[in-house]
Amino acid sequence: MSFEEVIRLAQQRGFFFKAGESYPNSPAGFWDYGPLGVSVRNNVVELWRCLIVKREGMLEIDGSQILPKAVFEASGHLSSFTDPFVRCSKCGSVFRPDKLLEEKTHNQVPEKLQDSEYDSLLVKAEVRCQKCGSALTGTRRFNMMFKVGIGPLQEEAYLRPETCQSIFVDFPLLFKTQRVKLPFGVAQIGRSFRNEIAPRQGLIRLRELTQAEVEVFFNPKRTGEGQFGPLQSDDLTLTSPTGETSKLKVSEAVERGLVPNKLIGYYLALLLRFYAATGLPPEILRFRMLSQEDRAFYSEAAYDLEVNLSVGWLELVACNYRGDHDLGRHSSVSGTDFTVDDGGSKVLPHVFELSMGIDRTLYAILETAMRSEGERRFLSLRPYIAPKKAGVFPLVNKDGLQEVATQIFRELRDTFDVFYDESGSIGRRYARADEVGVPFCVTIDYDSLKDRTVTLRSRDDRSQKRVHTSSLPEMLTAAAQYPRLAN
Ligand SMILES: [Zn+2]
Repeated sequence: MSFEEVIRLAQQRGFFFKAGESYPNSPAGFWDYGPLGVSVRNNVVELWRCLIVKREGMLEIDGSQILPKAVFEASGHLSSFTDPFVRCSKCGSVFRPDKLLEEKTHNQVPEKLQDSEYDSLLVKAEVRCQKCGSALTGTRRFNMMFKVGIGPLQEEAYLRPETCQSIFVDFPLLFKTQRVKLPFGVAQIGRSFRNEIAPRQGLIRLRELTQAEVEVFFNPKRTGEGQFGPLQSDDLTLTSPTGETSKLKVSEAVERGLVPNKLIGYYLALLLRFYAATGLPPEILRFRMLSQEDRAFYSEAAYDLEVNLSVGWLELVACNYRGDHDLGRHSSVSGTDFTVDDGGSKVLPHVFELSMGIDRTLYAILETAMRSEGERRFLSLRPYIAPKKAGVFPLVNKDGLQEVATQIFRELRDTFDVFYDESGSIGRRYARADEVGVPFCVTIDYDSLKDRTVTLRSRDDRSQKRVHTSSLPEMLTAAAQYPRLAN
């Protein structure tokens, strides 16, 4: 299914839509989640909690979205969280030079070019303003953090551009109060804010986004121990910086030095298991290894988990071995000791980060779940991801069927995500439920009045069977259950 079809469904049925929709000049890059979108997102987040956070015994925190300037001096965001831009000398339109070059030449532009390198490439490719065709100014830099002023004196602070900084800053306190030992993970889900220069493509590039981040803290001298068990024989698809793709076992990738150690291999495999559980087919997922030039200077290895969609390869998770850079910087700038005891020796832990884009993940799930068969459109979502587990319908609106259906609906709604619908033909109601991925429909007919049985209809194969109403809670419990990973 195409990007446009997903966006059309999302807008028509209220999964998500542009923020400030009623006002014509609302800025791009801000989106609202509607009721169905919130429900799917909550389910994806809960799946992440089950399969990654709880399974690994991670600590989950919820940090402040506004942080003082000093945090971003230490993290380097104040000096280097910038994007290049050029302006039209006539109409003033603003563009990213890398995007202009990619659109003109259809070649990928390396991520970390100098401004002068952009300028010479723009001249060479004869790129001009996309709106009016005039000449462009030279490349300049723009810091993508949103600045805020605190109190009447407008003390300088920033909306966080990533959730992880509070995890690093809180590390000494967490270590002290939570009785943990290395290695351990700290997780956080929440909003981050990036003042992107020209956001496009719906949920794919946002100025206000939802991230689910995990920082695994470990002693770099002890990365081969622990229960990395069966995941070491999971398959990884790795694409090298030069573009060769190989499929190999996690353990093999570690042996061949493509992945620095067992601990990191384990978390890459865990991520793949999470995405398999969201319903994304493994064959459209790969880890792209970033070259040294594309990585931050402190990064020892980095992998982007990407999914192949109608929009091309899309990054879902940035996995980054950050060494001791973050804790070291916060330690030296704040003057707090960030070293901890590990088996009798002092160590400044290393960090492996899994930074997941939740909005993009949601988009990818919707696109890959969308199916059409002739006129029929449906979302083949896993039942535990689906926004509603069942619809409850009276076959006709007379002879007491509505009353019985309403009663069944009321019995279920406190425990399960179910909805009631009595408008239109039963076929239309099935179609509306299919379109938003509802896995089951429960129809009350004349026989239901006699024996309390109902028709249970399944979304994917449209099969129908007769069940007793007393079996519905058990069936819905099973549908809402998140899967477990083998240990
Ligand atoms: Zn122009």
